[in-house]
Formats: sequence, C-alpha cells, structure tokens
Amino acid sequence: PARPSPATRPAPRELVASLPVYSKAGGTVPPRWRASSNESFLPPSAAVLAAIDAAARRCQQYPTLQGDPLVAALSRGLGVDEGQIVAGAGSLAVLQQLLTAFTGPGTEVVFAWRSYEAYPILVRLAGARDVQVPLAPGHRHDLAAMAGAVTDATAAVILCSPNNPTGTVLTEAEVEGILARIPAHVLVVLDQAYLEFTDGAGSSSAHSLALLEAHSNLVILRTFSKAYGLAGLRAGYLVAHPEIAAAVRAASPPFGLNAIAEAAAVAALADTGALGRNLATVVEGRTSFHAALASRGLELPASGANFLWLPVGQGAASLEAACLAEGVSVRSFAGEGVRVTVGSRDAEAAVLRGVDAWLAGGG
Ligand code: PMP
Repeated sequence: PARPSPATRPAPRELVASLPVYSKAGGTVPPRWRASSNESFLPPSAAVLAAIDAAARRCQQYPTLQGDPLVAALSRGLGVDEGQIVAGAGSLAVLQQLLTAFTGPGTEVVFAWRSYEAYPILVRLAGARDVQVPLAPGHRHDLAAMAGAVTDATAAVILCSPNNPTGTVLTEAEVEGILARIPAHVLVVLDQAYLEFTDGAGSSSAHSLALLEAHSNLVILRTFSKAYGLAGLRAGYLVAHPEIAAAVRAASPPFGLNAIAEAAAVAALADTGALGRNLATVVEGRTSFHAALASRGLELPASGANFLWLPVGQGAASLEAACLAEGVSVRSFAGEGVRVTVGSRDAEAAVLRGVDAWLAGGG
C-alpha cells in the first residue's frame, strides 16, 4: 500500500476551518459615503486629536500594562472600582479575553441570532460551541428561548442591546428578568456597544451598572468605537465583579491597549461636548431617516442605535447594489436584510436614492 505522503506545510487547528468569515461591505471601488460599519461620521474633536498627537510623540515607549489611566478615568466617570474594569483593544478583544478565561472545549455560549457576526467567530476560537437562538417576531431577543437554551454545559449567555444589526433594545425589566433566570455560575454578557444612542429607550448605563451589585455573573461590555468615534484606534472595556475582571486581566496579552488609543479614549471621555453633539446629530438623523424609509412602505423596527435595519429578505443583495450605485456602502446580510448606518445628510440622501431605484426595479 502507498504510504501517505508527508504534509508539506503545517496544518491549522480544525476549528479554524469552522470559523465564519466576518463580512465586509461589497463593491470594488471605495464608496463616496460609508454607511456599512456603524462608524461615527464625525471626525475626532480637536481635544482628541491633540491627545493623539502628544501620545504619538512618545510612542517609542510601551503603554501601561493594562490601560491604567483609562481605567482610572472610567472608574471616576462610571462610579465603579478600578478593579471592576478591564480595558483592551476594542470590545472585541476584551470579549475574546473573557471567553478565553471562562469558556473553552466542552462548554457552550448562547446568543441571539441574528446578532453581532463576531460572536460565533470568537466563541469557536475559544474552542466553545455556539448556540444560536432565533430572534422573536419584531427582531427582538427571544429571552424565554435563550434562558431555555441554557444547559449544564453553558458557560455564557451574550445579550446584545441595542442588537446589531436589528437595533432593538432590551428594557430594564427584560434585563432583570433574564438575570433572574440564568444560574449564577453562568456569565451574562451585556454587550452595550451602542448604549449611548438609546436615548432613554432600554436599560440605561446607571441601571445596568447597578445590577452588578446583585449579580456577580453580569459582565457589561462597552466601546469607544461608536459614540466616541474611535473605531480605527481600537479601545473598549468591560465592567464586572472584581474577581471576574481579575481573571480576564490574567488572560489578556500584556500591553493590549496601545498608547495612542488609550490617550484618545481618555480625551474622548473628557470631551462631553463632542459626545453630546454627536449623539444629538445621530438621534435626530435616525428619526428623520426612519420616517423617510417608513414612508416608502418599508417595514423597519425602531432602532436604539446609530443604524437602521431593513428586513428585506431576499432583496438584501440587490438593495445593497442599488445603494452602492449611488455611492454609499451599506451592509447586507444574505437573505435577511440590510443594515444602514445613520450618517450625514448626504449619505442619507444617497441611501434614499438607492432605495427608490431598488423599489422602482421591483424591490
Ligand atoms: N459589539 C457589537 C454589538 C458591535 O456591533 C461591535 C462593532 N461592530 C463590537 C461589539 C465591537 O466593537 P469594537 O470596535 O469595540 O471591537
């Protein structure tokens, strides 16, 4: 019998082949406007740019080990102990460190689907099994089904509010209700990447932080990529019980948060005027954009985030193409819908022209 030929190059772990690909906006030419990645459309403020410049001039030096100045600033701002906060290179990195510390082979992680597309990637990378619970009517988390999906193997449940890509929010009562139903040894991760945009709908910052007192399994995940407009620099954090936070810190690569990102995040946190202007612009734009889309007969849920969800099903790809033809990138999810970031008035007008062309073509 022929001997198997020896492998000619190293083979990756099997789980690598199981990882979904993080999608990116379609099109080959850079769009004139970007409405595909839920970024802020406003440039950084002068104060943030000055902090970036000062940090860049010292970049021959290592940053602090764990983002200490940012952790201190967050601790003062949020009214929680520094020991409860872990900062890192975007909330994605912090979530990955959390999953590394608390999940792995033989464990399961429950989340809603459709929700943030990075969840199955990070869960499988950690070696755990992803358990996807379909959304309920209204594009909302099916909390009863999610609680029902918890087994002896469940290590974590991830809640996304506002949910990416549907924009739906969990109310304070809903967050309290699911915490009451999840066993205390299972992590409940509340991903609040878009919290600042909720504008009174859903669980507030203070309400969710207060829940940490009674629920030592709750982990709150936040980012500087959205309302604070620093997506390109990568800064995010979690807030949790000190013992949970300590485990995540222990599972984190040293120097994970770079010095420029950290300085920018500290400055953005202090620049409350810039944050307020950004939020006001997005909330106002969201209201008029939603009304303009609804007036065209499109069904779309109310959004608590800086994006809108158009559940057009099989029309997703053609709607994305129609928007691209008008110079604006949007994010389509095959067979499900299109997510559009609330942006400048020019970007909004381009999306509406794309939608009109798409509707005229039969949708
Ligand atoms: N969570 C959700 C729900 C998101 O939409 C995103 C970004 N698209 C993230 C987390 C990751 O954000 P970051 O840039 O902080 O890694």
